Amino acid sequence: MEHNYNYDVAIAGAGIVGASVAWHLAKAGLRVVVIDQTGPAAAASGASDGAISVASKVQGPIARLASASLLYTEELARAGLLLKAFKRRPSYIFATSVEEITALDNLIVKLQALAGPVRVVSDGSAKMLTGLSEQVERLITLEGEGHMPGHQAVLAYLTTPGITPLWPSKIKSINSDSTGVTVDLGTQNLRVGYLVAALGVSTPSLFPTMPILPRAGQLIVTDRGPVGGLQGSLTAAAYLLAKTEISVKSLQPPVVIDPLGTGQYLIGSSRENHGDSTKVDFETVRLLLTRASAVWPALRAQRVIRAFSGVRAAVSDGMPIVGPLPDAKRIIMATGFEGDGICLSALIGREVALMVRDVASQSEFATDLAALSPARFLSARQEGVA
Ligand SMILES: Cc1cc2nc3c(=O)[nH]c(=O)nc-3n(C[C@H](O)[C@H](O)[C@H](O)COP(=O)(O)OP(=O)(O)OC[C@H]3O[C@@H](n4cnc5c(N)ncnc54)[C@H](O)[C@@H]3O)c2cc1C
Repeated sequence: MEHNYNYDVAIAGAGIVGASVAWHLAKAGLRVVVIDQTGPAAAASGASDGAISVASKVQGPIARLASASLLYTEELARAGLLLKAFKRRPSYIFATSVEEITALDNLIVKLQALAGPVRVVSDGSAKMLTGLSEQVERLITLEGEGHMPGHQAVLAYLTTPGITPLWPSKIKSINSDSTGVTVDLGTQNLRVGYLVAALGVSTPSLFPTMPILPRAGQLIVTDRGPVGGLQGSLTAAAYLLAKTEISVKSLQPPVVIDPLGTGQYLIGSSRENHGDSTKVDFETVRLLLTRASAVWPALRAQRVIRAFSGVRAAVSDGMPIVGPLPDAKRIIMATGFEGDGICLSALIGREVALMVRDVASQSEFATDLAALSPARFLSARQEGVA
């Protein structure tokens, strides 16, 4: 790359996606600056369930990319980088209604077609899991999935030589031309070779035509304590339907109960069509806790110590936006991961780094990634250029 740049690449956003891209680029020897208006994992990446789940992904490119990202996350854990952050654990998916039972049938078909690392190891009644309420009509146990708190992964990625952190520093505008990109930070301008826009739900503030909508979710954390020895996440099958076109209004809340390494339980997470993370929606929290304690009664003895909300970046067609802008190829979008960003972050970081280095076409994921290109929203108009 040219030497008159301040950095080879600027990453806009220190969430898990930006952090993963930064790590892959720094590892390839590029000089990377990561800019965030607040700090690392300040937005969705610090407020998520952290499930590395293939089962919950919509069939097609996203499920295939998630399956590959799960394997790659494990590889990074074995290599030491994500060792503390990533934990493999079983996933239990339960059904208490006809719609949820059908969702489990569809899940089995989807996982068979994927032939990836996640497999069904049992399919039966509530009796398959000690402590589960008998109101559960069917329970599937999966092996191969995992859990990774977003903030832990972000810190692991960013504490790497070759990455310059720059926060709190808000990007005001971005100008791209044929030789580089100028990033306006208000007090200074940076000249870089490429910019990766990993801005999550804030993407439209700099790229107004990107169809990203905020979608809030409520999360609850319990006190530490023995709550019946749940070894993995316990997820309502309604969660699988929440990402499809099937209406979930008639269903029970799509609750997930996740045992944390600390001995606490994380209970989440709803989907609301707004972006206000400053308030907890107590009615939704009540519904989540009611269903969680109905299926896992030992939770009733547990204290809730925290309730909070996070905001996902949802895209109008349900797919993330990843790839160079058609008319400003030095700007690469990596945004709109809604409820899948923790799971997809490892693979997307690697693939976006290849796009910056212009070798992405050799990737075995080129076809699936092409479906995520921002070109599907933009025609001839140059986006993101002031
Ligand atoms: C309640 C909830 C539960 C979830 N559960 C899961 C789950 O179980 N599994 C899963 O895979 N995913 C889950 N997700 C989704 C996951 O958290 C996100 O997809 C992921 O964190 C997105 O990461 P990101 O890096 O794209 O965005 P973010 O983490 O939102 O990062 C964007 C960053 O950009 C910065 N920024 C914005 N504007 C500017 C600007 N102008 N200048 C500088 N910096 C700026 C922000 O400060 C922020 O740090 C959940 C999300 C929520 C809210």
